Amino acid sequence: MSSLFPGLGGGSRERAAVGFDGRALTYGGLADAAGAVARRIRPGDRVAVWATPELETVVAVVGVLLAGAAAVPLNPKSGEKELAHIVSDSAPSLVLAAPGDQLPSSLGDLERVDVDVAARADFPHAHPELPDDAPALVVYTSGTTGPPKGAVLPRRALTSTLDALADAWQWTEADVLVHGLPLFHVHGLVLGVLGPLRRGGSVRHLGRFSTQGVARALADGATMLFGVPTMYHRIAETLPGDPELAKALGGARLLVSGSAALPVHDHERIAAATGRRVIERYGMTETLMNTSVRADGEARAGSVGVPLPGVELRLVEEDGSEIGARDGETVGEIQVRGPNLFTEYLNRPDATAAAFTADGWFRTGDMAVREPDGYVRIVGRKATDLIKSGGYKIGAGEIENALLEHPGVREAAVTGEPDADLGERIVAWIVPADPESPPGVAELADHVARRLAPHKRPRVVRLLDVLPRNDMGKIMKRALTPADTDTGTGTATDA
Ligand code: ATP
Ligand code: MG
Repeated sequence: MSSLFPGLGGGSRERAAVGFDGRALTYGGLADAAGAVARRIRPGDRVAVWATPELETVVAVVGVLLAGAAAVPLNPKSGEKELAHIVSDSAPSLVLAAPGDQLPSSLGDLERVDVDVAARADFPHAHPELPDDAPALVVYTSGTTGPPKGAVLPRRALTSTLDALADAWQWTEADVLVHGLPLFHVHGLVLGVLGPLRRGGSVRHLGRFSTQGVARALADGATMLFGVPTMYHRIAETLPGDPELAKALGGARLLVSGSAALPVHDHERIAAATGRRVIERYGMTETLMNTSVRADGEARAGSVGVPLPGVELRLVEEDGSEIGARDGETVGEIQVRGPNLFTEYLNRPDATAAAFTADGWFRTGDMAVREPDGYVRIVGRKATDLIKSGGYKIGAGEIENALLEHPGVREAAVTGEPDADLGERIVAWIVPADPESPPGVAELADHVARRLAPHKRPRVVRLLDVLPRNDMGKIMKRALTPADTDTGTGTATDA
């Protein structure tokens, strides 16, 4: 533990560590409260954490790590069935929760221990060193493409990623991170909480994301903002009427987006209004962080930057051969290797074996191109975002970006559907800006053909009131089937 968070064991106990809407702990207070949790836990156990966006969750996770056990964060908004699956799959020895939390019956007879953030207990911070490959977290994937799988993350993955990103972003003790990310995924928990704690900085969690909360925290001294694209979209929409927000963002040291692609349109609008470019990073539950832009590097719209130090990244063809070209054009699957990787999917030897090549590369399932200077541009997921149409391999992302530039389009998702002539035809799912007069298929097809290429134009446009998204704001493409338009306002087809 002392090796995970050097700031907890000694140094100044009075420094701010973590705050949630007025409830806050210093490093000393966090060490004491987490120490009290750690005393209840056996090293090597798995311990569930009811991961609300509250101070107790941070104390619980740090306590579990301090004890040399592995934390299993639970999403309190998960359905009964999903929670029951996670609990039976991960077999935790107990569940940690905040005193007032109501826990659902799907947690079964799991022993419950309440976290007291005011507790003071000495715990040996110079805990016997644990092996690097001891599990630290079991995090269930977002379930965007199938049922969530429990990725076992060793302590090595945490330390290597947090050190690499802190170096890339020049993260120091003086940094104050603000965000409103959920604490049951790696983005909010590992990068957003354990990240600042490892470097001796602090985190202010908004509990619930709001543009006012962001503006206030930044005006109040926060230096960095983390968010997912739906949050940056809200910011982009709010900026024109909110000079305070523009000023606050303009004064931030770093704005970072991850978990899904940040639409180019939002990136450009934020840059125009604040003078700051959002840094995009690319990562996943299984690998933590893969790529990013350095704090002193060039943040480019539509690009996730370069591999972090220590992370090996390559693009491969379908036959497994490596793509050497850095031409910004040749699309391949991203594979990564390095100390940031998970060790296995819990209880899923089949899925684990399928995820790795013989020489230890992890198959991300994400498709990308590399620019001549090494910058990675993600095209989309192999399973849902790569459309094979008329002999071309087309990425959904660039078509979505083009559609979002049309003033009549509020949200867009692109999928492929079987087509007798083309193999697959391009389908655009649109939430129109004005449901009374949505843009027609001819207009959108023309708009895309002019920006990209004629073969990338959508052939079908389906209108929706809202896109199906999960709790990270990711579009659930597997939920986009023609029956969904029943609640929408119509369908149009290219003749
Ligand atoms: P599941 O694996 O259960 O289907 P998931 O892949 O959405 O869910 P996560 O591990 O939370 O679960 O998400 C990682 C994925 O998110 C990546 O593989 C990639 O597809 C996408 N992603 C993350 N960051 C970016 C980014 N900056 N740009 C584009 N895609 C991103
Ligand atoms: Mg995944």
